[in-house]
Amino acid sequence: MDLNFSPEDEQFREAVRGWLEDALSGEFAALRGRGGAGDQGELIEERKAWEKALGAAGWLGLSWPKQYGGRALPLTQEVIFNEEYARANAPGRLGHIGETLLGPTLFAFGTEAQKARFLPKILSGEEYWCQGYSEPGAGSDLANVQCRAVLKDGQWEITGQKIWTSMAEWSEWCFALCRTDPNLPRHKGISYLLVPMNQPGITIRPIEQITGGAEFAEVFFEGAKTAEANVVGGVNGGWKVAMGTLAFERGASTLAQQLSFANELDAIIALAKENGAAQDPLIRQRIADAWAGLRIMRLNALRMLTQMEGGVLSREAMITKLYWATWHRDLGELAMDVLGDDGILQAGDALHPLQRLFLWTRCDTIYAGSNQIQRNIIAERALGLPRGPR
Ligand SMILES: Cc1cc2nc3c(=O)[nH]c(=O)nc-3n(C[C@H](O)[C@H](O)[C@H](O)COP(=O)(O)OP(=O)(O)OC[C@H]3O[C@@H](n4cnc5c(N)ncnc54)[C@H](O)[C@@H]3O)c2cc1C
Repeated sequence: MDLNFSPEDEQFREAVRGWLEDALSGEFAALRGRGGAGDQGELIEERKAWEKALGAAGWLGLSWPKQYGGRALPLTQEVIFNEEYARANAPGRLGHIGETLLGPTLFAFGTEAQKARFLPKILSGEEYWCQGYSEPGAGSDLANVQCRAVLKDGQWEITGQKIWTSMAEWSEWCFALCRTDPNLPRHKGISYLLVPMNQPGITIRPIEQITGGAEFAEVFFEGAKTAEANVVGGVNGGWKVAMGTLAFERGASTLAQQLSFANELDAIIALAKENGAAQDPLIRQRIADAWAGLRIMRLNALRMLTQMEGGVLSREAMITKLYWATWHRDLGELAMDVLGDDGILQAGDALHPLQRLFLWTRCDTIYAGSNQIQRNIIAERALGLPRGPR
């Protein structure tokens, strides 16, 4: 395993760093440090303008193939971009669902017409996407989706409910898993539909979170429509497409988040020094553990990178989500213990950024596959243990 970046990679790093520094000192200075954990629903219009600026400067779709408007850069450079992005404290991304989930899914399963219609507007920051998988009765057990889609007069008509749909309110499009044949076995009767969000048949009801924000929502489909051609992977072929998208979510797109974690740990250490918590031997030990955990995540990410040359995630990649989610949840608890009495909430008080971090990190072990589900995946797919009861 070669742990060093090449001279070209380092040159690329300089270019990214310079651009981010300029942009975030000028027009977009107010966005520095915004839109992160627990703050995702803020400054939406300003962050959309930022996404457009990223697109215009060629920073979106770095690893996308050239024929789809990407730059076909190696994964190492995509990681470098994300590292520098976090180091610069650049704003939380709004376009990541389109760029890192739907884009790669369309390369693998989309028709040429779908690629031509949807990919350019992801790259230009003009259209935003949300992921319509979960329903009240289908989360970990995703194959239980009940949202129905029926073909009528050349259009899909959709009826049902999705829940926990991140960014639904600010997205132009949703990729939704819908049941298109209830008579087939459950994995086989599902289609992956691309649905426009701004239409009368869709009602979006934001769900307020413990942080006070509302970045996700319930989405109700009552005769919502989408064109017949907006099905990815064929009618009733949605399960394999959905699993493809999840592999992107659980794998490559989580590679470089450690730098933003490092920023959070730095803030905790600074506070511990300032308020004296750093004198407490147990706090010191937990800070050291957190620091070591960050290094382990980085080494594991580099190991994944070297093993992912063919674009396929290795067995080792399967521990990534479980590891970072658990680490980040623990970091939130450490933040509260360092805050001490200042962590106690009083009605009407604005949240301290570390309180917000703590509240937000409660969800890390749930979304994109809960810790229990990750353990099942590791047991069955990485270690080859027998399947547990379902
Ligand atoms: C912040 C956030 C953002 C999200 N964004 C989106 C989004 O954009 N789009 C979307 O579609 N969804 C989204 N989700 C939903 C998320 O994918 C689900 O919450 C997750 O898949 C778990 O499903 P569930 O909530 O229905 O819990 P359940 O599946 O009901 O699980 C409840 C508990 O049972 C455990 N459990 C379930 N099955 C098993 C099993 N077989 N073995 C062992 N334990 C098991 C789980 O681990 C969990 O602890 C988001 C969730 C969060 C928290």
